[in-house]
Formats: sequence, C-alpha cells, structure tokens
Amino acid sequence: KSGFVALIGRPNVGKSTLLNHVLGQKIAIMSNKPQTTRNRIQGVYTGDKGQIVFIDTPGIHKPKHRLGDFMTKIAQNTFNEVDVILFLVDAKEGKGRGDEFIIERLKNVNTPVFLIINKIDDVHPDELLPLIKEYSQLYPFKEIIPVSALEGNNVTTLLEQIYTYL
Ligand code: GDP
Ligand code: MG
Repeated sequence: KSGFVALIGRPNVGKSTLLNHVLGQKIAIMSNKPQTTRNRIQGVYTGDKGQIVFIDTPGIHKPKHRLGDFMTKIAQNTFNEVDVILFLVDAKEGKGRGDEFIIERLKNVNTPVFLIINKIDDVHPDELLPLIKEYSQLYPFKEIIPVSALEGNNVTTLLEQIYTYL
C-alpha cells in the first residue's frame, strides 16, 4: 500500500513536530522554506505496510490579500488529490477561529478527514471528551485520534489508521 496524506492545522498546533516524529529531523529544514503555490512533498514515511507521502497544503490559512481566493482553490485541489487529510488541533489551546476557517475549507471535500488532537501530554484526560464532542459537531471526521507529537504517544496508531484508508 502507498498513498498521500495532507497535514493541516493552524500555526503552532504541532504539525512540524508530528512530521519530525514520523519522518526524522530532515523535515524541519524543508518546512522552513517559504510557501509556494505548488503542492510540496514534505517527506515520505516508509513502514512495513508501505509508503506514506506527506504533502504540504499552501493556501489553507486565512488569506491576507486577494491572492487568498486563488490559494484557497489550490488547497481544494490538494484535498481532492490526497487519500487522507489529517486535521491537527491543539488540546491545550482548544478550538479557535483558525480551526473554524479550516473546517469551512473542508466542506464539500470527499477525502476522509481525521481529527488529530495533539499535545495530550499537556492536558488532563478529562478535558479530552468535551473537546472531541465540540469538534465532532463541526465536521464528520472519519477517525479521531488523540496524540502527543512531542512524546510520540499514539503516533503508531495514527500511522496504522492511515494505512487502512490507502
Ligand atoms: P506547527 O506550527 O503546527 O508546525 O507547530 P510546531 O510543530 O512548530 O509546534 C509548535 C509548538 O508546540 C512547539 O513549541 C512544539 O514544541 C510544541 N508542541 C508540538 N507538539 C507538542 C505536543 O505533543 N506536546 C506539547 N506539550 N507540545 C507540543
Ligand atoms: Mg510548522
């Protein structure tokens, strides 16, 4: 099996940290390049079950200028070309307007979207269920997986779940 995965989420939710954990250190350097309008491969994970190619999604953030409409279309193209979309959120910060903007962009997308609740090392377990309920009301996520990108909790489970959609 092999396939493509888009990793999205507002700034500081831990996207780079998660990729670093999955792929190794080289990715941090790649992700510091300025955004381009073309989809970029951020890295390739090669596991026992096959390859997972992580794709960057320029244009997913709130536009600051008129180019924003164009960028949104680029993001829409990416969403329809990948096998799985990982929507990463911050358990510590909770839901923010940046999240709602991204969820808006996911409407009318047929690709399965996973809700990845990151930074679970930093919150009390009791806070998790209310958060899951809150996000579930906004979008029909195919899978909901709490992780710690920093400590690696549940990252293997996440990869296993991705394979089942490839
Ligand atoms: P990005 O902007 O989405 O790429 O976020 P980064 O990967 O740069 O992470 C932003 C900040 O959150 C950094 O200070 C990370 O160390 C921190 N961070 C990322 N993942 C976790 C996590 O699982 N737990 C905790 N406690 N901090 C995290
Ligand atoms: Mg980053």
